[in-house]
Amino acid sequence: MKPGSAVTGATRVFGIIGWPVSHSLSPVMQNAAFRAAEIDAVYVPFPVEPDQLETSVAGLRAMKICGINVTIPHKSTIMPLLDELHESANSAGAVNVVVNLDGKLVGYNTDGDGLIASLKNDLEFDPAGHNIVLAGAGGAARGALSALCRAGAASITVLNRTISKAEKLVVDFASDYPDTKFNVIGEDMSDRAFWSRQRLVINATSLGMKGEKINGLALASLPGDAKVYDMVYSPPETALLLNAKSLGLHSVNGLGMLVAQGELAYRLWTGAASPPNIMHDALKRYFIALDSA
Ligand code: NAP
Repeated sequence: MKPGSAVTGATRVFGIIGWPVSHSLSPVMQNAAFRAAEIDAVYVPFPVEPDQLETSVAGLRAMKICGINVTIPHKSTIMPLLDELHESANSAGAVNVVVNLDGKLVGYNTDGDGLIASLKNDLEFDPAGHNIVLAGAGGAARGALSALCRAGAASITVLNRTISKAEKLVVDFASDYPDTKFNVIGEDMSDRAFWSRQRLVINATSLGMKGEKINGLALASLPGDAKVYDMVYSPPETALLLNAKSLGLHSVNGLGMLVAQGELAYRLWTGAASPPNIMHDALKRYFIALDSA
């Protein structure tokens, strides 16, 4: 919508469902993009408790909400409630975007492609043909694994505290991607020869938000041109990124992924690209305001 103009009866409504949802930065990004593009739309947070998900999805249809993002804990549980799933959602086993096509709710996943876009834009890294270590085996790791396979990674080694979860993740993907080699390792894998063959390390665990280190990532044994990606973006410099920096490794946090998945969602809802840099700049301004508050 135009800066300063009012919400009217014609304004289209988008939003995000999650529990909790108050931490989400998507309203900041999406509203900035709607304003900059002068689209008559608003984006609002909807706190939806797990046992209210089905009712909420019926509400999206009933109230003709045009599209939503989906965040924790609903990314997988919403899948059977939708009318159609795009291949990106099926392959990731999770939905983070829903488009309402005249009452037909279609689920997509833009997290994985957001990661690939950020690897390219922020790390100048193309996964094709490379050995990659992925820390974590939760929802974010599943989305990443799916996208890295589609992007042609030569091998993906999943490192996770709970090895059985990593094994399950790998089994789910191995038959669909015969050209990618899969391995699972625990937090005690210190073989220097293994680490010296890896070109990218990704943190897809929830560790780092409170200063925690990730056990088992032997960054010092990586080759000098290896890169490190941390999906965590708050704080902007996690213990992992500080370690990578001290070793001279090119590294970056997950802000670019957050922005890229949001830009892909915006495109699905509006059919157009969001104005360049708008979402990124809105987040930067938001963090600066937060710091000085
Ligand atoms: P999740 O499904 O809850 O998975 C959490 C993962 O972290 C699991 O692998 C878990 O290991 C591991 N973990 C948690 N606590 C641990 C501990 N104390 N020690 C060792 N491992 C631990 O979460 P998720 O949805 O995948 O999200 C993971 C992270 O990615 C979050 O920080 C999220 O904010 C971030 N993320 C960022 C973006 C972005 O756009 N930048 C997008 C999506 C997610 P176990 O299996 O052993 O429990």
